[in-house]
Amino acid sequence: LLSIMKDTIILYPNIARGHLVSMVELGKLILTHHPSFSITILILTPSTTINTTNTIACDSNAQYIATVSATTPSITFHRIPFTPYTSSTTPFLPPHLLSLQISHLNTQNVFQTFQSLSKTSNIKAIVMDFMNFTSPKALTGNLNIPVYFYYTSGASTLSLLLHFPTVHQAAIKPLKGHPLPLRIPGLPALTTDVFPEEAKDPSNYSYQVFLEIAESMRGSVGIIVNTFEAVEEKVIRALSEDETMPPLYCIGPVISEPYGEEDKGCLTWLDSQPCQSVVFLCFGSMGRFSKVQLKEIAIGLEKSEQRFLWVARSELDGVDTEEPSLGELLPEGFLERTKEKGMVVKDWAPQAEILSHDSVGGFVTHCGWNSVLEAICEGVPMVAWPLYAEQKMNRVILVQEMKVALAVNESKDGLVSGTELGDRVKELMESERGKDIRQKIFKMKISAAEARAEGGSSRVALNNLARLWKQG
Ligand code: UDP
Repeated sequence: LLSIMKDTIILYPNIARGHLVSMVELGKLILTHHPSFSITILILTPSTTINTTNTIACDSNAQYIATVSATTPSITFHRIPFTPYTSSTTPFLPPHLLSLQISHLNTQNVFQTFQSLSKTSNIKAIVMDFMNFTSPKALTGNLNIPVYFYYTSGASTLSLLLHFPTVHQAAIKPLKGHPLPLRIPGLPALTTDVFPEEAKDPSNYSYQVFLEIAESMRGSVGIIVNTFEAVEEKVIRALSEDETMPPLYCIGPVISEPYGEEDKGCLTWLDSQPCQSVVFLCFGSMGRFSKVQLKEIAIGLEKSEQRFLWVARSELDGVDTEEPSLGELLPEGFLERTKEKGMVVKDWAPQAEILSHDSVGGFVTHCGWNSVLEAICEGVPMVAWPLYAEQKMNRVILVQEMKVALAVNESKDGLVSGTELGDRVKELMESERGKDIRQKIFKMKISAAEARAEGGSSRVALNNLARLWKQG
């Protein structure tokens, strides 16, 4: 029976939307170049509607999955229901790590599903998002099926994560307040200040979680990374030459297709702007700012005298309160004064389409990896303003290694002043240095296309993986 079954690759994404989308795109990439595989995506799905006021928010992702199922029927979703839990019963985790906890609590659930799928499918490999806090062994039990990790960010932050257990052993005090110098092959000289906040304090639950994830990844059969050789050459080489590390498969850039929930009005506005004149500001799925910070951004944009398209989201004061209107959040008269030059939106923006628009000439980004790759693929130079997770490290790489971005400087309390933002934006758009950065990222755009083309480094890495899976 097995011989007539298609070889199946199981993808097990993290349910945070960005991670899910990335994994679906990986599935599409595999099918495009290796259509003989069948792809099944295991997806944890809440069995009841979640009330965000007293339970941990978890987007059902249902609409997105329905869209993918309709447009890519060759991908099968296998839903695994779970009951949402209240935040009071679990250790504290910051919002961007809640989905990690959901995966952890459902390990047994996923294991059972996997065992039953293995009876009816010829499973060749599992690819699990690194943000699923589940050990490969707990997933496969006694079945001899290789578990690969999918790392949705770049090789530089991957290297930091893989070296985290060594840093942990060397640290005598918590890293917060006592930064250690880091000498990691292939990375510039750093200190542990670039670590995500939660990875600086061993008494923090997330710190222990990351240690365990790093150990699991180090012992895995392989890590698939959404990056490409030309963009992170040194660190990829260093990791590949280190025999204590698992093999890397750099198959990127994998860019997500838009799935049509966005407000497209801003694209029409962009149509009427001059070529490469608009600075786009967008801070990922979770970038929200205090009223004070929003006002400073507005001041900075006015000072920069540039055209702008700004996705402005404010911090939520309480779960039940409505977000204040833009008029309430921004300096008095700002919207009126800038109406010829700028546009401010609050809703989800079609970022990838915006970045590909001719009128866009710069991007102020929170340095989320998907945003970085989208900017590279469209050749849009950046101002790097990291907010959370691994973004500080991404800034270092963008500014020092790739040289495709200018860094904003935060004050000690984390605020970026209007003057600082305005100066950086103006520098990006008008200075010689800005010009150099533009040229550099334009070259990188070409390298990205080459990596993905027939014979390119990313295509070769994907083919190598497929060959291994077929043989297994
Ligand atoms: N994004 C978007 N519209 C928005 C905000 C974000 O389309 O208003 C997309 C963006 O294009 C990217 C993803 O959401 O593909 C954000 O991923 P990233 O890794 O940059 O940041 P994260 O949200 O994971 O912090």
